[in-house]
Amino acid sequence: MIIFQNRFMDREEAKVDMEDRGYQFGDGVYEVFRIYDGALFDFDNHLDRLVSSAQKIRIELPLSLNEIKKMLMGLVKENSLVNGTLYVQVTRGVANRTHHFPEHPKALLTAYTKQSERPFETTNKGIQTILMDDIRWLRCDIKSINLLPNVLAKQTAKEQGCKEAIFHRDGIVTEGSSSNVFIINGNDLQTHPANNLILNGITRRNIIGLASGLGLNVKEKPYGVEDLLASDEVFVTSTTLEVSPVIGIDSTVIADGQPGPVTRKLQERFEGRVLG
Ligand code: PLP
Repeated sequence: MIIFQNRFMDREEAKVDMEDRGYQFGDGVYEVFRIYDGALFDFDNHLDRLVSSAQKIRIELPLSLNEIKKMLMGLVKENSLVNGTLYVQVTRGVANRTHHFPEHPKALLTAYTKQSERPFETTNKGIQTILMDDIRWLRCDIKSINLLPNVLAKQTAKEQGCKEAIFHRDGIVTEGSSSNVFIINGNDLQTHPANNLILNGITRRNIIGLASGLGLNVKEKPYGVEDLLASDEVFVTSTTLEVSPVIGIDSTVIADGQPGPVTRKLQERFEGRVLG
């Protein structure tokens, strides 16, 4: 079962209109939720971010927040999803193709679940990454379905045998192509501030909370590529990558090529939170 055009249906029934603005302009926003043991992780914060992304691009949600919440929980239950992800997208709907908004837009919500294992391979062993120029627009705080720069970066990383591309804007590290980036030096944990240049990840927020609890000195402050490459430890966070240690960036080996002790502690705490 899926949700398509604001109602439940079988996937086979779903047909995208060629003039859906999401399809033609990338005019929409999305959210990815993780389900652990049948429960939606940090559900309200993900929903809030969906609402805020929609507001920022002036899309009025087609249903009340309560209705959306009930439908999404219903979908997870209906599909008997125990471990996996829930993808939700809202586009500005179908209209004659012209750039400005339709007179009477009717936003369309799509949602589906996918069963998937947790990323134990990457969280245990760590990942290799590459650095890339951040060529994205200046509203990366919006979880927009326009993901072309992210797609190109991830493909380049894949072609080089890497799991993630780390973006920098004029030498300042912003975030990964689908993750946030943290560095650890001694007792300091640092990550780019949550402004227009990054997506304020839900995992990022969880880690910042957990780090303070561990007595780490959390700094939400820009840092450069040289700082990144010289750090004691580096890790990335996302709903799908969870807390993945970075053990290599291009030809630079990080933390002797092993997940570091502070990253491990944060992973442990995160595990406690997801298993609730
Ligand atoms: N930054 C970008 C560009 C992303 O696409 C994502 C997730 O897809 C994140 C950060 C991490 O966000 P979250 O932890 O909410 O999954």
